[in-house]
Amino acid sequence: MRAVAEAVVPGFNGLPAAEAEVPVAEPLARFLSRLPTRTVSLVRWALRIFEWVTFPWRFSRLSVESRSAYLEKMERSGLSAYRDLVLLAKLLTMVGYGRDPRVTAKVGSEARCGVREGTPPPEVGPLGDLTPRGDGEQCDVAVVGSGAGGAVAAAVLAEAGLDVLVLESGPYLNHADYPTDPLIGLPMMYRDGGMTVASGRPAIPVPVGRTVGGTTVINSGTCFHAPEEVLREWRDSDGVGWATEIDPDYAAAEEMLAVTPVDPERMGRNGQLCMEGAAALGASGGPISRNAGDCVQCSSCPLGCRLDAKRASHVSYLPRAVAAGARVRAGVQALRVLSEGGRVTGLACRAGLPTDAAEELARDGRPARGRPWEVRARAVVSAGGAFGTPELLMRSGISHPALGRNLHIHPAAWIGARYPEEVRGWEGIMQSYYVDQWQPQGILLEATFTPLSFGAQWLPGIGEAFSDRVANFDQIGSIGVHLHDRSSGRVRSAADGSLRLSYRLSADEARTLQFGIARAAEIHFAAGATEVYPNVGACTVIERGKLAEFEAMDLTAGDLRLEAFHPMSSARMGADPATTVTDPSGAARGAEGLYVADASLFPSSVGVNPMMTVIACASRVASGLAASLAETGRASASPTRALA
Ligand SMILES: Cc1cc2nc3c(=O)[nH]c(=O)nc-3n(C[C@H](O)[C@H](O)[C@H](O)COP(=O)(O)OP(=O)(O)OC[C@H]3O[C@@H](n4cnc5c(N)ncnc54)[C@H](O)[C@@H]3O)c2cc1C
Ligand code: SF4
Repeated sequence: MRAVAEAVVPGFNGLPAAEAEVPVAEPLARFLSRLPTRTVSLVRWALRIFEWVTFPWRFSRLSVESRSAYLEKMERSGLSAYRDLVLLAKLLTMVGYGRDPRVTAKVGSEARCGVREGTPPPEVGPLGDLTPRGDGEQCDVAVVGSGAGGAVAAAVLAEAGLDVLVLESGPYLNHADYPTDPLIGLPMMYRDGGMTVASGRPAIPVPVGRTVGGTTVINSGTCFHAPEEVLREWRDSDGVGWATEIDPDYAAAEEMLAVTPVDPERMGRNGQLCMEGAAALGASGGPISRNAGDCVQCSSCPLGCRLDAKRASHVSYLPRAVAAGARVRAGVQALRVLSEGGRVTGLACRAGLPTDAAEELARDGRPARGRPWEVRARAVVSAGGAFGTPELLMRSGISHPALGRNLHIHPAAWIGARYPEEVRGWEGIMQSYYVDQWQPQGILLEATFTPLSFGAQWLPGIGEAFSDRVANFDQIGSIGVHLHDRSSGRVRSAADGSLRLSYRLSADEARTLQFGIARAAEIHFAAGATEVYPNVGACTVIERGKLAEFEAMDLTAGDLRLEAFHPMSSARMGADPATTVTDPSGAARGAEGLYVADASLFPSSVGVNPMMTVIACASRVASGLAASLAETGRASASPTRALA
């Protein structure tokens, strides 16, 4: 790693040199020691390839200049695997390097949250005792996962008078203890330390949250309704009759989460440039609505909102569920759904995993042991997200052919550009302006500015060229290009219990992404950018006047460098028992009393940021379950008690 980091950022244009001045390998080694064994093995394996890629010479024995030149060649190579490796090298280097105060001081970047003056501090209800009791507990409904879907389901069920127990495998963190250092925050708040990757050409990182509040704690707070045509398709083709009737669910969620459009005055220069570029082209769009009411500045959403301006689940629906009597347990992983005679009776779990930041830090990468813990419940709601739900259902012996398949992720490209003016994207709101002009073609653009540690790896070049762009990060603007994907992937569980993801981007949709990248570039140029970074192997920089040449390229999926944040549809609902894992009420086929209420339910890719639609669907599923439990007289007022 040392040899790679030195080559990526050798020190240029006032930026300190990696390793000689800013240690990267050593803090990264500590970071990696906190990740699951399989993730660490994959990273080690990749780094070993670097050592021998220059055979018969060893990479680490070459001069820094030769190493930089070699990596640069790999970045431009026609081989997708080479480009994946270089991206990994830059990602690891920058997450270690970009956090150092000497680097942030040189760049001038600062993660500083801000809310509108005079905004009162948010009132956040308590979550109660999060420690799992004894050998297990009993309840009417056990909800697995506390993210967008699980939290709202818990609130709806508890408010219907049911005794609800929410289980979350991650720890509880709040505004007082979100780590500012990504090397500490990533393993604490993300599954696999944020290194969850779908294999394929290209390999696509798909990070998800793992903390009380789920991915909502680390997401960007953008709120969209699903496009009408998608909801109509879910109703007409997938048989989800209520799909076009969820406006009241959206409205209730918007009120609960204080959803408001970003004020253009305060969105920051990154959003304003996107807005100006789109206006110059006559492309339709608008300020993004977010669940962070009065937030006016910063870009530290990926490590939690220190002001609780963002109404993530742990400061919104979970306290509401607890106020209605629900119990939340952190550090409890549901392993298997238990059943008797085809009817769900509860969950076999592992409890005693770290429940808070201090315990997670104290673990320091050592495997958390945990203890067997059992839940007795009349119904189980699986809301572990598009990876956690298929995992749990597979481990529970549910073998529907659609389970884990049809995974959609909204593959996304980060399209940065250099401006002749200061952008200082960290001074605005990280996701602020959308352009929907090309939605009919499957492309949604969003001005998104990611902090240095998370965003800089997308800048092209190695060595001096890369360092120059990092040093001028204050002049970088960026737009995310999101694909409304028909391409799909798969979630599998390996024999050792680890998650396996794959995704195959079709040739047609690779071309659609190329079209979307060109539109983002067009907006950047219209707003004054001097060069655009399309993240394409054969073309790392588009210069002004050269867009037509980029568009004429015949790109394949493997040419693109992508990431994704919206996994969904891996346990899809619908009327056809042969092709859907749950019926339209969210009830899993083949296990009476088991429901799904998260992003995995979506019959198909939703095409916009999914959180609000997850909330709306989960609230529908939970209301239906509450009604059916009431109807069958199954609701009980049984007091909380630990199992013997
Ligand atoms: C960086 C990032 C930015 C994003 N930005 C936005 C945005 O701005 N707007 C938007 O709409 N969407 C955004 N998303 C996506 C959005 O947050 C998710 O779609 C949404 O949170 C999914 O909700 P969910 O309930 O399906 O799962 P999650 O919110 O992921 O919650 C699942 C929870 O279940 C837990 N869990 C899983 N398995 C188990 C188990 N077996 N036992 C116990 N617990 C378990 C997990 O630890 C996790 O906490 C973003 C995602 C990322 C990664
Ligand atoms: S919502 Fe995000 S951008 Fe706004 S104050 Fe919180 S962390 Fe910062």
